[in-house]
Amino acid sequence: MRENTVLDPTIKNLIDNLPHPFLLVNEQGEIVLWNKEAQIKFGYTAEEIIGFPVPFVEQSQISINEMLFQQLLKKPEPMDIGYHTYVAKSSERILCKSLLNVWKIEETPYLAMSLILSDSSTSESTFEEELSYLRSGLEDSFMMLSVDNEGLITSANTNFLKQSKWTPKRILGKTFWQMFPQTDVGTKQADKIWESLKNGRTWHGEVEQITKDGQPYWVELSALPISQHSTAPTNYLLLENDITDKKTLQHRLEKIAYIDQETGLMNRFRLEQLVNKMIEESQHFTFVFLSIDKFYSLKEIYDDKAEAVLVMEFTNRMKMYFQDSIMARVSVNDFVVLTPLGEWFIQGFLSYLKQHPIYLDNTSTPLTISGGITKFPEDQNTFSNLFKASNTVIQKIQSEGGDSIASLSKDDHKSLSTRSVIERRLLIALNQKDLHVLYQPQRDLSTDGVTTVEALVRWEDSEIGIVPPDILIPIAEETGLINQIGNFMLEKACEQAVEWSKAGHKIRVSVNTSIREFRDKNMADTIRKILDKTNCPADLLQIEITEKFALEAEAETSIVKQMKQLQVEGVKFSLDDFGTGYASFRYMQLLPLEEFKIDKSFISSVTYQDKTRALVEGMIQFGKSLQLRVVAEGVETDEQEMMLRQAGCDAIQGYYISRPTSASEIEKYFKA
Ligand code: C2E
Ligand code: MG
Ligand code: MG
Repeated sequence: MRENTVLDPTIKNLIDNLPHPFLLVNEQGEIVLWNKEAQIKFGYTAEEIIGFPVPFVEQSQISINEMLFQQLLKKPEPMDIGYHTYVAKSSERILCKSLLNVWKIEETPYLAMSLILSDSSTSESTFEEELSYLRSGLEDSFMMLSVDNEGLITSANTNFLKQSKWTPKRILGKTFWQMFPQTDVGTKQADKIWESLKNGRTWHGEVEQITKDGQPYWVELSALPISQHSTAPTNYLLLENDITDKKTLQHRLEKIAYIDQETGLMNRFRLEQLVNKMIEESQHFTFVFLSIDKFYSLKEIYDDKAEAVLVMEFTNRMKMYFQDSIMARVSVNDFVVLTPLGEWFIQGFLSYLKQHPIYLDNTSTPLTISGGITKFPEDQNTFSNLFKASNTVIQKIQSEGGDSIASLSKDDHKSLSTRSVIERRLLIALNQKDLHVLYQPQRDLSTDGVTTVEALVRWEDSEIGIVPPDILIPIAEETGLINQIGNFMLEKACEQAVEWSKAGHKIRVSVNTSIREFRDKNMADTIRKILDKTNCPADLLQIEITEKFALEAEAETSIVKQMKQLQVEGVKFSLDDFGTGYASFRYMQLLPLEEFKIDKSFISSVTYQDKTRALVEGMIQFGKSLQLRVVAEGVETDEQEMMLRQAGCDAIQGYYISRPTSASEIEKYFKA
């Protein structure tokens, strides 16, 4: 219906000359009359706007629908619905007080809207006005939905409509539940939110929603009950922020946490989980550890790309030979097969490899392997012992030239599982303070200076020789001696930080810790005492935890509490070996972390493996989105440094800068 058929020309003239914007809207929500002042204030001409839905009011504020008409019909005098923001053609937001009433013309109801502009220069802003501004700000940055007492949607703003693909008309009257995936999980989630709203409580969290055509997207949702005149809630406001990108990355990280990117085999972390499960279920199996011989000299003869081909070709042969067995890659050149097959079959893999040589640069490469066979439950009965026993065989074979697969004798197994030697010697070492500390610097990529060094434990025993941390730490953890090692390291690190600080170098020392140390309810206290005793400022100490630790800390509130207390006092926390465990978004938010360190296994192939590169870039972005400092570990070449610099990594650590070395040696890296 056109305006001129609606109104008497005299009335129309009168309306046109009203000193404030005025418009008439029909029941379909289309504008049928638009006065001069409205044209001036909002920038739309009558021709542009008549016959179209009201384009300039934020959808979540007023929705013109039958309900509103019915409500207004019952009232003879204009209804003041308070301040609302309207969007002009120029996108300017204009705050107006809105007076509404219904005019009946030839039995058809029309909504008459008088918009009184707020004059902020003269009147003091009222509380109501301020609320409107606030709401207008929210409209700008959030997706917004209003829901009535029955769970029916009464309005939705433009941001929401854009994301959810609903049209304004279609969404009104739909239920709140229809916004969630139509699955058990989706409905339960919606029910939970609804229940909390009904009880007058706000709900905040991450939820999955679906668009009109069923496409999932993730939002961070705050749902608030709104009560008028402090009665029970009468309607609800949902504020949402799209976090789909973050979620997608998180899911990718969680998935890759289980697989080795280069070969697609499962990684060590996943293998450990699986083996533990098989042990729990008392399944019998043989643990076969396979290591490519002379891998590092092969690497030197050929280039990095050839190394990748070698690994892939080897993986393919392993898959062909062992077929349905479980296979994992546990380090660059080490693999594990879990199989029910017998020893003679496993050893047959050596001749299979000879019959199917690998070609690099068109020449067949003499690839041999060493393998260790350990049986569960006959030989060993824990993951770490199966691993160690097989490893011991391999070391023995490799020292004799490699190219063989064997198992340990009964006696070997026995001495290996007793561990009494190491334990006994470790006690002496702790007593005599035979442990010592090496430091490895991190290069800050923004300044090229060194501000942080990592403290690494070293033990060389007069009887058993060098015991690397990878062997020492698990034994210390199992025997409880880890607390003493931890305290020793913390004390040394703090003393060293103070010494450097006195010499004018403000260097933070980063100390590795095990979950076992934090299980101690007095850990925070112990650290505080060490800081006091050594006179070390808390902000010179950083503590590294691993992902496994994080997983457990999530469940143990006392651990998180202690960490948070220490953080308040200035101690920093770093997540070590990121990507090798279960990279969960949840604990990354829960724990007071300042940084994470991308594990060296990713860095080793970052320059020639596109997938790994994309992954590392993703991790760096991920860190940035959480405002965490990102450090790359195990950087060995300038190409790796360059790539990491380009990707925006904050700092790097690795042999490329320096091997772990003594405190005095490391000072040369500090800027004067
Ligand atoms: P981490 O904390 O990830 O330490 C980094 C390890 O990578 C160190 O091995 C370091 O020597 C090595 N590394 C550094 N740069 C490179 C590189 O460019 N290439 C390669 N291939 N390796 C590099 P390290 O000292 O043998 O320590 C092994 C692990 O033992 C540490 O891994 C840490 O988890 C644990 N550890 C070391 N000291 C302590 C300690 O005092 N307490 C506890 N709880 N754990 C410790
Ligand atoms: Mg570390
Ligand atoms: Mg690490």
